[in-house]
Amino acid sequence: MLYLGSHVGMKAPKFFLGSIEEALSYDANACMIYTGAPQNSKRRPISQLKIAEGKALLQKAGWSMNQVIIHAPYIINLGNTVKEETADFGAEFLKEELLRVDEIGAGILVLHPGAHMKAGAEAGIQSIVKRLNDVLNQDETDVVIALETMAGKGSEVGRTFEELAEIRQGIDKKERVGFCLDTCHIHDAGYDLSDFDSVLDHFDEILGLENLKVLHINDSKNVRGAAKDRHANLGDGEIGFETLAKIVHHPRLDNIVKILETPWIDEKAPYKEEISALKEWSKSHKS
Ligand code: FE
Ligand code: FE
Ligand code: ZN
Repeated sequence: MLYLGSHVGMKAPKFFLGSIEEALSYDANACMIYTGAPQNSKRRPISQLKIAEGKALLQKAGWSMNQVIIHAPYIINLGNTVKEETADFGAEFLKEELLRVDEIGAGILVLHPGAHMKAGAEAGIQSIVKRLNDVLNQDETDVVIALETMAGKGSEVGRTFEELAEIRQGIDKKERVGFCLDTCHIHDAGYDLSDFDSVLDHFDEILGLENLKVLHINDSKNVRGAAKDRHANLGDGEIGFETLAKIVHHPRLDNIVKILETPWIDEKAPYKEEISALKEWSKSHKS
C-alpha cells in the first residue's frame, strides 16, 4: 500500500482536526505534524489540540494513526558537548515529547540526531548515544524515534549511514530507534539517488531496511554532495521527478509512510499537485 502525504500545520483553533482536514485536502493518506512550532519549545497541553476530533475524521477517511508521523523540533541538540546545558535541555524536552506523541496516539517521532558544534563527529555521536539512553531507559511508551539522515550542513551528525548505525549500536533499547530517510539530505550528503537500488542495498547492509520507519521525499536545490539542505519541489531540483517517483513507488518501500517537505510556491502548498503527479506516474509505469 502506498502511504503518501506531506507535513501539515497544527494551528489554533482547529489544531489536529485542522491537520487532518489539510492532509485530506491534498488527497493524502498520511501526514506529518509538529506538536508546536518547529523552531521553539513552547507546547500546549495535548487536551487542547482536538486530538479526538482529528482521529474521528482520519478514521472516517480509512486511515489509522500509523499514518500520522510526528517531527521533533529543530532546537533539540543531543550532540552538543560544547554547551552541555543545550543537550540537557534537549533530553528533557525529548522526554516530554515522547509522552506527547504517545498521548496523541502516534508511534513514530522523527528526530535530527544533532550537531557536534566542532567537537568532532565522534564526540557528537557519543553524546547522542548517552542522551538517548538516558531518555529511553526512563521512558515507558513504545514510541519509536526515527533518526533522520542529514545533509551534513555545518557540524550535523548523521550524514552517513555509518554514523547513524554507530548511534543505534550504542542504544540499550534498540527496538525504540529506527531511521527516517530524507532524499534531499542523502543527495546533499553525497549518495547517488539515480542508482537507488544500490543506495537501498547499502542502507540495508548498514542500518537494516526493517529499521526504515519513514521517508521524506524532497528534491534538492543543490548538486550531489553539496552538504547544503535546501529542499526543492519535485522535478525542480538536482534529483529529478523520475528518480523521486521511482523511490515513492519502490516495491521494497511499500507500506512505509512517505512525507513531502517541499517548499510552498507563491504562498500556496504544492502538495495536492505533487501527490497527484506521483500517483499519475505510477499509472503509466505499471509493469
Ligand atoms: Fe527533518
Ligand atoms: Fe526531512
Ligand atoms: Zn531538510
